[in-house]
Amino acid sequence: MFCFNHQKEAVAICKHCGKCLCHECVTMVDGGAACSEVCEQKVQEYMAYIELSKQGILKVSSTFKRTAAFLFILGTLFIFMGVGPFLYTGDVYSLFLSLMGLPFILAGYHNLKSAKQIKTNEKA
Ligand SMILES: [Zn+2]
Ligand SMILES: [Zn+2]
Repeated sequence: MFCFNHQKEAVAICKHCGKCLCHECVTMVDGGAACSEVCEQKVQEYMAYIELSKQGILKVSSTFKRTAAFLFILGTLFIFMGVGPFLYTGDVYSLFLSLMGLPFILAGYHNLKSAKQIKTNEKA
């Protein structure tokens, strides 16, 4: 792979136009390679956009986590609301209320898994 302008080994590819670039021709903009001033501007926009979407992914991940915490609390609340009366009165029907807490716990677990998946995808 040779430089677009010289007969030299290329070390990078312009992130905007895809030209192969040697040491002399390449300009690094925020961690992205660019060939000309026009491309420098475009690459800068790309890198800013990538940084923005990275932050967006982290935000989604923390939203999942917050939802998971909320669901866990709700599920636990249901379970206590069912188990409490059962212990005091021996009323088996109150245990059904506890069962209602299980879907919340499961949904919370699912949310937590999604949050972790997003994080691992982001690292890759
Ligand atoms: Zn270019
Ligand atoms: Zn060159």
